[in-house]
Amino acid sequence: MCIACRVVQAQSSLLRLTKLPGGEVRLDPERKLGGRGAYLCPKVACWEAALKRRRVEHALRLATLGPEDDLRLRQLILELTGNQN
Ligand SMILES: [Zn+2]
Repeated sequence: MCIACRVVQAQSSLLRLTKLPGGEVRLDPERKLGGRGAYLCPKVACWEAALKRRRVEHALRLATLGPEDDLRLRQLILELTGNQN
């Protein structure tokens, strides 16, 4: 299930984010990193909604998402979607 729009989809069609032991949030494209994960549609709208509504923090049980993580995630989704809005 996407943490932003809550549409249930196969996990294979969603992007997985995971929290590293140090608290850093990373994309986990090969689903090998383990740990607590959050799934999102590969859509800018879902990522923006998730970041704005603090769904990423909630799903990964983070107190706050650092500004670097926030920026990196925004950059990632723009790259993944080819800068489409
Ligand atoms: Zn979604």
